[in-house]
Amino acid sequence: QVLNDEMCEICEVWTAESLFPCRVCSRVYHDGCLRRMGYLQNDSALEVTETAHTETGWSCYYCDNLNLLLTEEEMYSLMETLRHCKIIPGTCLTLDDFLHYKHLVHKQQFERPMAEAQEEQATLQFSALDPDKKGHIEWHDFLSHESIQLLQKLRPQNALLRLLTAKERERARAAFLALDQDSDGFIGQGECRRARHAWFRKHQKEMPSCNVSISHVGPISESSPASSGSGQSQKTPPAAGQEEARPIDWPGFLRENVAYILAARPNSAALHLQPPA
Ligand SMILES: [Zn+2]
Ligand SMILES: [Zn+2]
Repeated sequence: QVLNDEMCEICEVWTAESLFPCRVCSRVYHDGCLRRMGYLQNDSALEVTETAHTETGWSCYYCDNLNLLLTEEEMYSLMETLRHCKIIPGTCLTLDDFLHYKHLVHKQQFERPMAEAQEEQATLQFSALDPDKKGHIEWHDFLSHESIQLLQKLRPQNALLRLLTAKERERARAAFLALDQDSDGFIGQGECRRARHAWFRKHQKEMPSCNVSISHVGPISESSPASSGSGQSQKTPPAAGQEEARPIDWPGFLRENVAYILAARPNSAALHLQPPA
């Protein structure tokens, strides 16, 4: 069990007052201190007090901002891309803006246009970033998404693993052990993929319908390939099927999920890295 700090990160004073723990790091905060520093505004104040001590948890201002994970150089490269694509920092993006941007970035990187499947995935990502179906995505959600995309692109997986905190590793370990029911140290590919959806703990504001749709993305999309797979298994199992059956150990599980664990840090209701359907 990872222990939280004993003193408030901001005032460094120990008091018997209740402290709000961060779900990602070991820092704790007085709500008065968060308010004084301007980290709590009307809406978020309620959210912290409502979620910090629940299963959902709350991310402190260090952990909430995925953009802080980028180095100065990476940040510069991101800003160059945005400038090139005529995205104005601080503004909301519509689906058209988002797809236009994704097309340009793809062309820049691979020197060919984006395939239809990739455009579908981008559209899916847009919906995930717009959970309230407002028709646009907020700038900070877009920035968080692009930050995690850039980290995936530029850093080796081992470097991403080093970004995980003790709490994140502990939670991933518990998830792995729960999936490994026969305790042989291995889990199936499908279970590993489904875990990607499980990291996102979002604060639901009286939106049960939204909640349902998110939690069902995994099982529904998972069921179609599985059923077609069982149909094929009557014949010779295809090579892809064998790949599918290859079990995953703990280090492999962590590697496959690291980007999603990091993407789940922000408090925003948006999903900053939509797992492929
Ligand atoms: Zn304090
Ligand atoms: Zn934190």
